[in-house]
Amino acid sequence: MLDKDCIFCKIIRGEIPSSKVYEDEKMLVFKDIEPKAKVHLLAIPKNHFKLLAEMDEGGAEDLKYILKKIPRIAKENGLENGYRLVINQGDDAGQTVFHLHIHILGGETLGW
Ligand code: AMP
Ligand code: ZN
Repeated sequence: MLDKDCIFCKIIRGEIPSSKVYEDEKMLVFKDIEPKAKVHLLAIPKNHFKLLAEMDEGGAEDLKYILKKIPRIAKENGLENGYRLVINQGDDAGQTVFHLHIHILGGETLGW
C-alpha cells in the first residue's frame, strides 16, 4: 500500500509536512515545493505505485477517481482559466519521485 522510503508516502503518513489543498480517503493534493508555474499542485493516489507501467486495476480506478476530482480542485485553486496536467514517466521525462503523481499547472499562460 505505502512504501516506507517513498517521500510522497511519507507526506501521506504526515511524516513530512506539505501544503495540502485537498484530501480524501483515496487521494491527496498538495503544493509542489518547487513550483514551475504560478500555481503548481501535485495530485497523488494514497496507494503507492511507481509508474503507469506498474498500474493494476485498483491503481487504474484510483487514477480515474483522481482525474474526475481534478476539475473541481483546479477551480477551487484559481485555475478557472485553464490548467495543464503532466505525468512524468521515467528518466527521460525527468521523473524524480517514483510514486505516481499528476502535476497540475496554471495560474498564468503556459509556454509549451
Ligand atoms: P517529477 O519530477 O515528475 O517526479 O515530480 C516530482 C515533483 O515533486 C517535483 O516537481 C518536486 O518539486 C516535487 N517535490 C519533491 N519533494 C516534495 C515535497 N516534499 N513537497 C512537495 N513537492 C515535492
Ligand atoms: Zn509512495
